[in-house]
Amino acid sequence: MAQKRDYYEVLGVQKNATDEELKRAFRKLAKQYHPDANPNNKEEAEKKFKEVNEAYEVLSDKQKRQMYDQFGFDGPQGFGGNQGGGYYSYGSGFDGFGGFSDFGDFGDLGDIFSSFFGGGATRSRSSNGVRRGADLKVAIEITFEEAYLGVEKEITISRNEQCSECRGTGAARGTSAEKCSVCNGTGKIRQVVTTPFGQMATQKVCNTCNGSGKVIKQPCEKCHGKGIVKKTVKLKVKIPEGIDDGQTVVLKGEGEIGSNGGPKGDLYIVVRIRRHSIYTRKAEHVLCDIPITITGAALGTELEIPMVDGTKEIYRIPEGTQTGTKFTIKNKGFKSVNGNWRGDFVFTVVVQTPKKLTKEQRILLTELAKTMSEQPPIKKRGIFG
Ligand SMILES: [Zn+2]
Ligand SMILES: [Zn+2]
Repeated sequence: MAQKRDYYEVLGVQKNATDEELKRAFRKLAKQYHPDANPNNKEEAEKKFKEVNEAYEVLSDKQKRQMYDQFGFDGPQGFGGNQGGGYYSYGSGFDGFGGFSDFGDFGDLGDIFSSFFGGGATRSRSSNGVRRGADLKVAIEITFEEAYLGVEKEITISRNEQCSECRGTGAARGTSAEKCSVCNGTGKIRQVVTTPFGQMATQKVCNTCNGSGKVIKQPCEKCHGKGIVKKTVKLKVKIPEGIDDGQTVVLKGEGEIGSNGGPKGDLYIVVRIRRHSIYTRKAEHVLCDIPITITGAALGTELEIPMVDGTKEIYRIPEGTQTGTKFTIKNKGFKSVNGNWRGDFVFTVVVQTPKKLTKEQRILLTELAKTMSEQPPIKKRGIFG
């Protein structure tokens, strides 16, 4: 596959472009590259046109844009025809309609096309009433440790599913849907309109059957003829190790049911990570403060550092360690969700001045104090430090 251009670059906008800017850039380029506007260079224009469409399709969708920013083309959704791919994709729809090759939702393209074709064009996609089901979005909260190690969670969602009573037909048991007499079962109605340029034939969705080509005389009691029912389902979701707060796991095909045989939508699970009492995260690194004694700081000492996975690391800090010094334990941070590497565990030592002294400690410290100069000199900030 040829190297793909960055979507922002394709549209010629900044990474932080607003929806309005995206739309403007898209409209301009779509007009510029529209194959009909480039009769001498049709093939190249068509390629560009598709590229622009794809970029806009992703960037104009808040969720998809977020995923693209986070993961690029190899993202969970397998942007740009990278079949289903993606680290996070699970579920039944996996192979069926990976990436955006299905162009599930044209979004704003409808009005672009109508501006080209003088309002005469209909969106062929919906002419047979086939629609992809809506995507669903839920949030779950996990602990810092769960994010570090990865975890499997059970979530409960409510979604539209095929009615089991009528198996989605909407017709009462023992009956079946009949062919729509208005459209003769095609779901479409042809219309001929007269325009200043002559007669134009267009197709529209049949109102009587909503494009399904069928009408139900005796509706199913359970779903009232809709063929779908709301159901509460429990799903297992694997949260990969290393996931960061606000990242999303996608279960393909676990969204709402499509209509008239359209594919199911996807389920987006936004992962929130609970604050931890001692650890924080910065990119793939784990940060932590470790208190040490004044003697440990002065003489050097062996520290027992608690790792996120519950193990302990022994770490020797040197004599004369200053408070605020950072030490790094390599490759003990979060695993990268995009690659096979880990961040580090970085701890900052904080020297604790004792608040209460025993009698013996006081004597020893006083003896020590006598050996030290009264007050250390004030350091001047110079060119050497
Ligand atoms: Zn039913
Ligand atoms: Zn009809």
